Amino acid sequence: MKAAVLYGQEDLRVEDVEEPSPGPGQIKIRNAYAGICGSDLHFYFALDSMPFDPTQPHPLTGARLPQILGHEFSGTVVEVGEGVTTVAVGDRGAVHPMVVACGKCPGCRRGVPMTCALMGALGASAIGGGLSEYVVANEFQFHRLPDEVSLADGALVEPMSVAWHGVARSNVTAGGTALVAGAGPIGIGAWFALKAHGVEKILVSEPSSERRALMAALGATVVDPIGGDLSAAVADLTDGNGLDTVLEAAGVGAALESGIANLALTGRVVVLSLHEHPMTLQPTQLMMGQKEVVGAVGYQDDEFDAVIAAMAEGHYDTTGWVEEGKLDDIVDALHQLRSGEGAKILLRVS
Ligand SMILES: [Zn+2]
Ligand SMILES: [Zn+2]
Repeated sequence: MKAAVLYGQEDLRVEDVEEPSPGPGQIKIRNAYAGICGSDLHFYFALDSMPFDPTQPHPLTGARLPQILGHEFSGTVVEVGEGVTTVAVGDRGAVHPMVVACGKCPGCRRGVPMTCALMGALGASAIGGGLSEYVVANEFQFHRLPDEVSLADGALVEPMSVAWHGVARSNVTAGGTALVAGAGPIGIGAWFALKAHGVEKILVSEPSSERRALMAALGATVVDPIGGDLSAAVADLTDGNGLDTVLEAAGVGAALESGIANLALTGRVVVLSLHEHPMTLQPTQLMMGQKEVVGAVGYQDDEFDAVIAAMAEGHYDTTGWVEEGKLDDIVDALHQLRSGEGAKILLRVS
């Protein structure tokens, strides 16, 4: 079968590899679409910046380079292993990439295995991935798609779940006010998730005019945080009260800083992005406004299903920010995304 296999930094080959077959409790999926994520860019362009060493065997999965990439994907079940009862041949689904976690660390014990340092995920730190014609996954990783949700949308469930989890961490409720800082795929996902939660007063701040235009075309109220007046736009949106929440998906200190400044009393900023640089913070403003800053990483299993249900209800419009390509063109797609062009690329893998 054809697969996109990472051998090392800037060495990714689309080549023929052996087709996997499912063991007990496992299923074999014919992949349909796989998305390219920011972490795939790190994998390809900056291997040293990965939080684990992919040249050494993963302690739980044994995976190491060469690694098939792709952790955001969808497909159709073509074979089930012994003992599989909840998934059948022909089922269409999105795949939760986490294969295993340690089960012992504080994160695992508290039910947030996505924070586990030993987490093994398909397309990164477990054998196999979505950027190949077939993959073998555990039965429990499979989330069935209803007829209303296409396989292309199915490949967006994983990144949209990251954003959904951020909104869950914000504690915002229907009728509340929110700012989404940064209109990359996670910021876009946060905007959809907020709307699905009944939050209508949402401002999106984004310095790129191209991204502002695509958000405006989706119906968002946008502001340029550099050339425009963010605080005035917030005051306008919230009648001068400040924001209930800020979803910080920009990855720059200035976005976090202005987010805190524009919060209402007891408001909450959720950090949803990786920050390359440390920043200074004046804690007094947290104290005086009884404000909070929290982090959000990954998602819970049930959030995967919540996103699928919201997709079935029509909450996700992919116009203007999702494009499709071919598996053979993956290296070009990585370069395109690195240059800041486009938002989300889905590759057709079979
Ligand atoms: Zn990702
Ligand atoms: Zn753990």
